[in-house]
Amino acid sequence: MKEKIKQLSKEYLSEVISFRRHIHQNPELGFEEYNTTKFIQEQLNNMGLTNHKVALKRTKTGVYVDIDSNKPGKTVLFRADIDALPLEEESNVEYKSNVKGVAHMCGHDGHIANLLGVAKILLQLKDSFKGKVRLLFQPAEEGPDMGGCVEVVNEKEVLNGVDFALGFHVYGAGNFGKAYFKYGPMYASFIDWDIKIKSNGGHCSEPHKSADPIIIGSQAINLFQSILTKIKSPLDNAVLAVGTFNGGSNSNVIPTEATMTGTIRTYDLELGRTIVSKMKSIMNSLCELYNGTYESNFLEGYPPLINNNQLTKFVMNETISLLGKDNVKEIDHPTFGCEDFSYIANEVPSCYFKIGIHKENEIEPLHHSGSFEWDDSVLETSMAVSANAIISFLNAITK
Ligand SMILES: [Zn+2]
Ligand SMILES: [Zn+2]
Repeated sequence: MKEKIKQLSKEYLSEVISFRRHIHQNPELGFEEYNTTKFIQEQLNNMGLTNHKVALKRTKTGVYVDIDSNKPGKTVLFRADIDALPLEEESNVEYKSNVKGVAHMCGHDGHIANLLGVAKILLQLKDSFKGKVRLLFQPAEEGPDMGGCVEVVNEKEVLNGVDFALGFHVYGAGNFGKAYFKYGPMYASFIDWDIKIKSNGGHCSEPHKSADPIIIGSQAINLFQSILTKIKSPLDNAVLAVGTFNGGSNSNVIPTEATMTGTIRTYDLELGRTIVSKMKSIMNSLCELYNGTYESNFLEGYPPLINNNQLTKFVMNETISLLGKDNVKEIDHPTFGCEDFSYIANEVPSCYFKIGIHKENEIEPLHHSGSFEWDDSVLETSMAVSANAIISFLNAITK
């Protein structure tokens, strides 16, 4: 079976590369993936998979479709994100973005192409597996706002009957063609925040008569850092970043307000909420001390992405038998980045893996940079790993 999967991945590679390059040339931002959705639907129709449905009803973007072996078994979902970024492409590849200020600089063009290729492989091997595969082409992983996955999941239908889920990302920091797995936490949750400190303002020569938003804000920033070192356990990981701090316009005026914005990253949402409550305590205490007031907003974003250990172990072992031990790596540390596949992983046991795209002696492709570029022949490996994970898993758990 593994040899057959490898052979089909090789066979479909050039077509899948042409899919990727078409999508790369025609990028669309989150919640606006109209032509991308149409292209995916057309390719699925060409394969005879005409029973596809719209993934996100509000925008009519994204697609999902089932490949049913017509044999009893479990259902595994495989997700690809489909949106591009608001960035100008800097490289001069022949399939460069046709849209000014929009480009596939995270690799989601490759994720779409990969999943279309996987669909073709699965259709060829339909007699060799049990159960059902649901392919999900999900809009707006990069946002805006809360991103596409939470909406897709909240509509319920996509996860109906799904027992397990898989997802994959090309990996700029990973060696070309190697598969990377991570047990447990892989990506962080975020809580974005903004705080506005207010005062009546006044003249700097009479500091005792008005609260000073600059003093309150600067002391708050120092005390926020002590939440990380003195209030939470040193064994719990967290980031509390202040991204902006603005206030004042004149050298001798106490301003009427100062604003700060930032983000909190944790692998445990409860820890994030504890940090929020301590930030509020600090603001309350400082405002009481200096007679100021403040307003704040804390927006809870994507939850942490936690891989299911059993499923990850299974997929990792199957990938070792496919690619060999040297080509499969375990990621030691999670990242404080975020990934909205976490909404799916919150609902069903999931495994999110990566395939490296960094070639030896070449500069590391940096995701979200205008120069992000990678050799799409790696899709041969990603298709094989993806199809192999799906088929071997469905066959192993179906009694
Ligand atoms: Zn990204
Ligand atoms: Zn991405």
